[in-house]
Amino acid sequence: MSSQECTKSNGDYAWQKNWDEGKTGWKVHDTLPKISLSPSNWSRAEVLYFTGRGPFQYFLKRFHLSHTSTCSCGEEGTPIHYATDCILTTSWHMTKPSAHLQKEWYRSVASHQLSRNKIRSIIAHITNYKDLFRPDPP
Ligand SMILES: [Zn+2]
Repeated sequence: MSSQECTKSNGDYAWQKNWDEGKTGWKVHDTLPKISLSPSNWSRAEVLYFTGRGPFQYFLKRFHLSHTSTCSCGEEGTPIHYATDCILTTSWHMTKPSAHLQKEWYRSVASHQLSRNKIRSIIAHITNYKDLFRPDPP
């Protein structure tokens, strides 16, 4: 995915610009499995999810674009949260991994088409209703 593609389709996401300019130094790949992000195999939504660069509260907080990393449901807004226990995404939930098995969980989800379809739906849902997922300002 090129940075051009990002800004073109999602001009309102300032964090993508920040990321592309490398201001933060946050190494998301430290915690994620090494997966092939070939454009022909992965949709944009999937790339966002598996790199942790999506519209997740956890991520927005890291980039100082949100005052909190907490989802509007009261839980920490990590990628796994939205796929396993957020009350706003129950239609696409998968089994929640225990903390020490998160890498395996990502790998497993990434290698199953059905799981990847769910991820795509979740990202679309969060993108379409992003205000719903953001807690009220303090
Ligand atoms: Zn939530």
